[in-house]
Amino acid sequence: MIKGSCLCGGVRYEYHGEIEEISMCYCSQCRKAQGSAFVAVSPIDSARFKLISGAELIKEFRAVPHKARVFCSHCGSPLYSARDDLPEIKRLRLGTVETVFQCQKAYHTYVGSKASWYDITDHLPRYQEAKV
Ligand SMILES: [Zn+2]
Ligand SMILES: [Zn+2]
Repeated sequence: MIKGSCLCGGVRYEYHGEIEEISMCYCSQCRKAQGSAFVAVSPIDSARFKLISGAELIKEFRAVPHKARVFCSHCGSPLYSARDDLPEIKRLRLGTVETVFQCQKAYHTYVGSKASWYDITDHLPRYQEAKV
């Protein structure tokens, strides 16, 4: 089981499944949402995601109409995103995970939108836009 929380600890969750892949996204929306060069996310099964505490702290922001970016309104930690047309999947922000896990399947997306000041130096697959 995977456990995680936001920075202030108000929001806590469990994921009763495995982290099966890691997507690092360099698009301008993710960069702004994280305040960083990229976001590391994993698609997870919504049915196996359980909010343990902090439901009252959760807010969402939509940079595009069909996709909610969900965060803690107290500390600002991004928690997951969810698309209206894919309710069975959330995309968990892996920086909030506390459980130690390993995942070999990782890749870079929207590399074409990458910040000029950051260089990718590993040999993982890279996609100019979404993973194909
Ligand atoms: Zn918080
Ligand atoms: Zn992105």
